[in-house]
Amino acid sequence: MPIPSGLDCLHHDHMDGAITNLEAIEDYYKLSGFEMPAHFKDILNLDDLKHRTTAWYANPQIDIVTKFRLLTDVLQNPDTLFLFGHQYVKVRAGQEMRYCEGTFAPQYHTRGDNKSRARLTEKEAVSALLAGVEAAEKEYPKIEANVLIAIGREIVDPKHLEWGGVERAKKIVDIVADGDRSRLVGIGLVCDELTYPPEMHIEIFNYAHERGVMTDAHAGEWASSPAKLMENMRTAVHMLKINRGSHFRLLSRDSELCKYMVDNDIGVSSCPGSYLYSGLIRDIRELELDVLFERGVKVSLHPDDDLFMDDIHTVFWKCCRAYNFTDEQISQLRRNAWLTRFGNRKKHEF
Ligand SMILES: [Zn+2]
Repeated sequence: MPIPSGLDCLHHDHMDGAITNLEAIEDYYKLSGFEMPAHFKDILNLDDLKHRTTAWYANPQIDIVTKFRLLTDVLQNPDTLFLFGHQYVKVRAGQEMRYCEGTFAPQYHTRGDNKSRARLTEKEAVSALLAGVEAAEKEYPKIEANVLIAIGREIVDPKHLEWGGVERAKKIVDIVADGDRSRLVGIGLVCDELTYPPEMHIEIFNYAHERGVMTDAHAGEWASSPAKLMENMRTAVHMLKINRGSHFRLLSRDSELCKYMVDNDIGVSSCPGSYLYSGLIRDIRELELDVLFERGVKVSLHPDDDLFMDDIHTVFWKCCRAYNFTDEQISQLRRNAWLTRFGNRKKHEF
């Protein structure tokens, strides 16, 4: 088996689930005026913190919302968001990544904390984050670090009008459309696919296309049945008219959809480490990445949330082992990530 090396382009990388935060977690808490949860008392060193963080996310007694609030609760003011953006670029550059599109959903960063004078607007949250990203990129100029602004799909819940609905989502699209387009490279759709399938977001995506914003959506990851997973992938492609898909776990079962995506240059990011972690698959071969390759689908590998899941090199290694990829397939896997990125601010060779 060839030795895998050099995955250096990420575009399915949730900033609030990234390992890049690990060494800054205690600082986020200090800057927010909050105490860390009891689970994190008296941390000995970074290894100990990593161990406890992994245990926190794996603990079935802590609900999913609380788990993610470990970080989002303390990313609510300009100082923490600046540090958050800076850390992301610093650590990814240190890992020799040359291109990153970090996913960031501003709607979860408008709650305020003990140190903030006022709650941030979504636009202010994005500005603070971007300032940190830009500052770090000046220090690490080999990397091109951009941000994919995500919309949490529950925003359209008809039972929770206070969450803002389509109008709030459109304002998030406007942040990208009216912002620094060379760094804010597009929008994504994230979170609970089971309760809020993609047909609920057509108006938002139509608006994004009207405004000339590139689009990505998580789909085909988590649904009530394989049939619904398949339907969600087709809806994302044909109704949301996405430029790139995230997950699409069962894509190999739909050769027509594969052909459409190849013909229309719609790539796919796959996060096998995440599906193994969540128990959605038992074996990486279930993804039939080799079939996707044969059909010419531009599929690439990404970490999803490497703060507590496998890092990208482990994911890559596991895939190479599962499929016994050839050198050519490995090169293609690398190239696909580059070919399906949204940003294009620096010159890269790949
Ligand atoms: Zn994801």
